[in-house]
Amino acid sequence: KSQGRNNIQMFGEMQASAPGYEDSEMTARFAAAVKQNLLQVYYQPVMDATNYRNIVGVEALARWHDEKYGWVSPAIFIPLAENLGLINEVGRQVFEQALNHFSKCSGVCANLKLALNVSKRQLVSNDFYEMIVAMVQGYGMNPGQIILEITESIALQGVDQAKSHLQKLADAGFSLSLDDFGTGFSSLSHVHELPFDEIKIDISFVRRIKTPEGRVLVKTIVDMGHAMQQILVAEGVEDSETADILREMGVERLQGYYFSRPMPKENCATFISELLQINEL
Ligand code: C2E
Ligand code: CA
Ligand code: CA
Ligand code: CA
Repeated sequence: KSQGRNNIQMFGEMQASAPGYEDSEMTARFAAAVKQNLLQVYYQPVMDATNYRNIVGVEALARWHDEKYGWVSPAIFIPLAENLGLINEVGRQVFEQALNHFSKCSGVCANLKLALNVSKRQLVSNDFYEMIVAMVQGYGMNPGQIILEITESIALQGVDQAKSHLQKLADAGFSLSLDDFGTGFSSLSHVHELPFDEIKIDISFVRRIKTPEGRVLVKTIVDMGHAMQQILVAEGVEDSETADILREMGVERLQGYYFSRPMPKENCATFISELLQINEL
């Protein structure tokens, strides 16, 4: 059992089939943490592939630290929140925190984009649109600064249902990103029907890019995405060789441990201002 606990503390390699579902203690502790507004938000920079010193924006990633379980991966607690009917509240708290941080960083962050993850229940819930529009306005921000990341399986489960929600958000000026691309069973023709601006190539493809098959796969996604006027983003870039291959393929934006791990807002602000100073030289 202690082995299981240790696994829960690891980020990255975990499956969304959460062992936490049967773990009523974790469930209770999570619900209490949400109630007390204890979730945190970390930020991971997204870089311009043509110049590794240019930052395009940051992705907000939810974090939960529990005294008993340590850092629990969002791959565990986001599905848990969905099951508990808490996902709208979790999403609201994450957005609120991220918009608050981002608006306070307005000098340094003025030209940066803030990417927020949106789960299916959130997207299709009745008040999501009103909530996000009001919140962005309330923090004096422009929807054009916000990228909403929707996972592929979500976007394509019910294309028609998702479409009207996505179209409304696009019309309001939000950028829409198709997250985890390649993991679902979609065809790119579905992408064409939906108002996405950006495709995020899933980490599982990026990991295989140094093999000949992996390279062909990624190149195919990139070329088809570009043919559909999409911006291509690669996640999970862990070394310079991978970054260079992606850049040569024409991927516009890169994200991953090679550039930076997700980090708390203070470290993120330092990271950004250091980059900006370098750019001014
Ligand atoms: P995602 O949206 O695909 O986020 C990217 C994940 O990859 C993050 O995991 C990030 O920490 C990790 N990552 C980034 N660069 C690298 C790298 O170079 N190598 C490796 N191995 N991993 C890298 P994280 O933070 O554990 O989040 C997992 C998933 O949980 C996210 O996947 C997203 O689907 C979901 N999630 C996180 N925060 C939220 C949120 O606020 N709302 C919703 N609905 N989902 C969230
Ligand atoms: Ca994402
Ligand atoms: Ca992703
Ligand atoms: Ca993912």
